[in-house]
Amino acid sequence: MDVSDRVRTNESRPSLFNRISEFEDSRIVKNLGLYPYFRELGSEQGTTVRLDGKDVLMLGSNSYLGLTNDKRVMEAAKNALDRYGSGCAGSRFLNGTLDIHAELEKELAEFVGKDAALLFSTGFMANQGLIASVVQRGDYLITDRCDHASIIDGGLLCFGRMIRFEHNDPTSLEEVLESLPYESNKLIVMDGVFSMDGDIARLPEIITLAREHNAAVMVDEAHAIGVLGPNGEGSAAHFGLTRETDIIMGTFSKALASVGGFIAGDEDLIEYLKHHARALIFSASLPAPNCAAVLEALRILRSEPERREKLWNNTRRMSEGLQNLGFDVGLSETPVLPILVGDMMLTFKMCMRLQECGVFVNPVVPPAVRKNQSLIRISLMATHSAEEIDTALNSIGKVGRELGLI
Ligand code: PMP
Repeated sequence: MDVSDRVRTNESRPSLFNRISEFEDSRIVKNLGLYPYFRELGSEQGTTVRLDGKDVLMLGSNSYLGLTNDKRVMEAAKNALDRYGSGCAGSRFLNGTLDIHAELEKELAEFVGKDAALLFSTGFMANQGLIASVVQRGDYLITDRCDHASIIDGGLLCFGRMIRFEHNDPTSLEEVLESLPYESNKLIVMDGVFSMDGDIARLPEIITLAREHNAAVMVDEAHAIGVLGPNGEGSAAHFGLTRETDIIMGTFSKALASVGGFIAGDEDLIEYLKHHARALIFSASLPAPNCAAVLEALRILRSEPERREKLWNNTRRMSEGLQNLGFDVGLSETPVLPILVGDMMLTFKMCMRLQECGVFVNPVVPPAVRKNQSLIRISLMATHSAEEIDTALNSIGKVGRELGLI
């Protein structure tokens, strides 16, 4: 019998799909009209976006400096498209390296204060590629309990052992370090700004402990670039610890207005990664328009410090406004402001009620946070106006009262 003659019935479906067809969670939430994911925007990522034919205020974007729809950034990407085409058709290792990749790597290394840098096609791949190639059998990867999923997945891929310490807690880190042989290889990886709670890594204490225990330190600056540091370089520069931070990782999907990621460090580290990081070697390189957008965003970031100032003014306005309304914003010290809600369904409800009131925010529920610690994540942009923030605060207060949160 020819394979095409066989009629697929439910009984003949391979058992692998049982688990898949039993997955009901998203359907249940959709049926309740509370599903807050994959919302389709029909516009640029500005302070206002188009959703279901309506303009809504965007308070859930990571475009911290408001550059994803900056005309200069868009023009730079268009020019690169004309010159280099739409893709590289290969990995950096073989046919996919462009001169603009090298130019961007040089600028990024200078910007964050390291010898060299290496681009990856996403920030996720940068973390995964680095950890999986650097942390080997017998080594230890030491992560904060709230580190980003890409760090954890790097740990799952590598042959070393992953150990977590309590969130941003040097005492817990010290306990871990003391339990390991001094001479063993260790890499501590932290988010510089934690992506969900908006608090800043306690790098001074962490680096001191690392030095005492023969551990290297890597900081993920995804939410810190363009936000912290004298020139927006990130959390290492914010603490004056660029030299002491062995490895700096960053992404372009937030303040740098595009997509892609990078690792910066010593020359020998970058040379090693070029020949070992599988996420780099076996995946196509970043298209030129993305690189050109990042180069332009970096130029603007450096030449317009007033954007960072505006971002911080907006952050203060929103943070104070939320606290005056009676919300708990947890430990946040940055433009990432969580509203602690607790219950997951209540968090979905708050998110969708806010959408009805014309405000887009993101819900964060387990496994991204612990059970009963669900939250609404608000993120500010430099381009929000004071009126937009006040309008949003009005709606957040109204919905918070409706749901009994304040
Ligand atoms: N690290 C952190 C802390 C992040 O928040 C993110 C994105 N959410 C990443 C890494 C991954 O970056 P990208 O979006 O470039 O893949």
